[in-house]
Amino acid sequence: MSRAIGLTGGIGSGKTAASDWFATQGIVVVDADVVAREVVAVGQPALAEIQQVFGAEMLNTDGSLNRTVMREHIFKTPDARQQLEAITHPRIRAEIIQQLAQADSAYVLLVSPLLFETNQYELVKDSILIDTPEQQQLKRASQRDGQTVDSIQRIMQVQMSRAERKQRATYIVLNDGDLTHLHAELAKLHQQLLLIAS
Ligand code: ATP
Repeated sequence: MSRAIGLTGGIGSGKTAASDWFATQGIVVVDADVVAREVVAVGQPALAEIQQVFGAEMLNTDGSLNRTVMREHIFKTPDARQQLEAITHPRIRAEIIQQLAQADSAYVLLVSPLLFETNQYELVKDSILIDTPEQQQLKRASQRDGQTVDSIQRIMQVQMSRAERKQRATYIVLNDGDLTHLHAELAKLHQQLLLIAS
């Protein structure tokens, strides 16, 4: 079993840019967001349970989860988020554990925006923070998504602060330059992680 290392950071910090680079080095990447979508895919038991608990109106006509309706329901109904998470979280965790266990690279990365906010940090030995100055996070995230600076700022306000993330991370990669700079920083860290893994 490969040594599992977490990779986290705020919105638009560069988690995907970083994990894409690690993947080019042959490192297996488990993405918590991808797993979260997989567990509620059509045919998965979690989706059937969501239908049972919240009603068929949570589904699109093709049987997939209607995320907009689900989000609105959670927003309006006090206990709904907890109910939904009781259905999805144990399954997400189990699937992450399985994917980490199957990894066969020198080490394996668990990429998660909520590594420190959920109990996912328990699944990894160490963690890498992609640390990006707020102004750059705002600029990059708004350019990428076409979302307004305001809405990204609102998300940043409810996310864990940069200072707190820095306190919790084992390794901090400052992503304040161009992609070439990011890749050079990651290459140094990769060498260090290979040594620890061997
Ligand atoms: P989210 O959590 O919002 O999905 P993320 O942390 O995965 O974001 P990315 O998608 O990797 O962030 O990066 C946000 C945007 O900024 C992307 O368009 C990415 O290509 C760009 N980007 C990231 N790092 C750099 C960099 N050092 N230089 C230039 N662009 C960058």
